[in-house]
Amino acid sequence: MATTANAREVIGEATLGELEGTLRGRLVRPSDPDYDQARLVWNAAHDRRPALIIRCAGTADVMRAVEFARSEGLQLAVRSGAHSVAGFSTCDGGVVIDISSMKGIRVDPIARRAVAQAGLTWAEFDHETQAFGLAVTGGLVSSTGIAGFTLGGGIGWLLREYGLTCDSLLSADVVTADGQLVTASEHEHPDLFWALRGGGGNFGVVTSMEFRLHPVGPLVFAGPVFYAGAAAVEVLRGWRDLTETMPDQLTTLANILIAPPVPFLPEAVHGQLVVGILGVYAGSVEDGAKAAQPLRTLGEPLADLMGPMPYTAMQSLLDPLWTAGAQNYFTGALLGGLTDETIDTLLARHASGRAPIRELHLHHCGGAMARVPAAATAFAHRNAAYVLNIIARSPDREGFPEHVGWARATHRAVDPWTTGGAYVNFTSESGADKVQASYPPDTYARLVAVKDRYDPTNLFQLNQNIRPSGRS
Ligand SMILES: Cc1cc2nc3c(=O)[nH]c(=O)nc-3n(C[C@H](O)[C@H](O)[C@H](O)COP(=O)(O)OP(=O)(O)OC[C@H]3O[C@@H](n4cnc5c(N)ncnc54)[C@H](O)[C@@H]3O)c2cc1C
Repeated sequence: MATTANAREVIGEATLGELEGTLRGRLVRPSDPDYDQARLVWNAAHDRRPALIIRCAGTADVMRAVEFARSEGLQLAVRSGAHSVAGFSTCDGGVVIDISSMKGIRVDPIARRAVAQAGLTWAEFDHETQAFGLAVTGGLVSSTGIAGFTLGGGIGWLLREYGLTCDSLLSADVVTADGQLVTASEHEHPDLFWALRGGGGNFGVVTSMEFRLHPVGPLVFAGPVFYAGAAAVEVLRGWRDLTETMPDQLTTLANILIAPPVPFLPEAVHGQLVVGILGVYAGSVEDGAKAAQPLRTLGEPLADLMGPMPYTAMQSLLDPLWTAGAQNYFTGALLGGLTDETIDTLLARHASGRAPIRELHLHHCGGAMARVPAAATAFAHRNAAYVLNIIARSPDREGFPEHVGWARATHRAVDPWTTGGAYVNFTSESGADKVQASYPPDTYARLVAVKDRYDPTNLFQLNQNIRPSGRS
């Protein structure tokens, strides 16, 4: 008997039985009743059928799983939070190493450190660290996994005060392509440690990460303010002007969107263009209220939900709008500034789209993110003033290719204002040229050297792939 996912891949049952006997975790095969649930990833645009899902219970399972995939010559996908928009954490006919059950975490509130297994989501991580009033820059949607997020860089509400998530990474345990476990830090395997901070999942399976934590909350001044589409130009220009002198404690995002049918927005604007300004002040609630006040008077708000709230409430505020199961396409650009013309272009592009959910997120950067030297981590885009994320989302497949086309055309329209390169976590494309172009040339060359050392046969290729030298 054999387990097959498609005609190309066949793994003998005896081989599977042998593997199963060496694991503490579980194999999920296509014939298992929970296979269809187990193969799901956040982005339904990637409906794939792996031959095997290996649910790892710990590092030993990961080592065994990597060795298995390598020796069987199988395509390998690594999954933590399953939020890869490009669909990298699944595959057809290969093996998925799923570490989402590895959720251990130890917080040391005195040393302000956390050692977290890589299967945690931001909701779970924040729950543990916020018990001590501590946090690290985390995702805007709390169901996102800490692993894929951190390895790409990590943009979140604490970015301007505490940097990207990867800037707070102190060390990582990694199972490399040879199935061996190494710890990467400033002192051990420093080349690998550099590459892990922005180079994505190219170098092995990260089983746990140690983070420096920062005092945050538990209560912070935070939330969104919404303005009518008619005021979009004035609101966006006003926000842009404010960002030029904003304190580092205040991290904000401007969102050009179609108003969802949520109770806090007047029914009359549901389905219409609105602009959301969202922010978090990483400091006292009183100081936050003062610093955020100008964001609340950029026009006549439709809804002003800014106020004191638990940091964890802000971290999960957007979750209901970003549930799994829809078709999604993200494409990101790095902007050196935000001219009036860029704002006009973004608004015109938004108006031209037809995706039921289309959003243009402008993440304000700078602050602590910009103070890290570009060569210090593989995330080198320290001079980006704003990161633009162009999002097309649709509940079903109908019309989705057109929405993808709209997102790509929007990206082309802002080309004149980009600094070059891309943030790999906001990129749905995976072509070799695109990945190379995502990094400055010297960063890319360094990433190739690290790839040559730790994964010379490109076992880990379902990612924004850095090709080892000599491999096309
Ligand atoms: C709803 C949503 C909101 C988002 N919000 C933000 C945001 O606020 N800021 C931001 O910066 N990004 C954001 N992102 C992008 C996010 O950072 C990436 O999608 C990230 O890859 C998700 O990580 P994951 O572990 O959930 O994904 P997975 O799909 O599990 O993994 C994605 C890829 O990361 C690599 N990877 C994952 N786990 C490991 C591991 N343990 N070891 C080695 N490699 C691994 C693999 O290459 C894998 O294919 C968001 C994405 C979504 C879908």
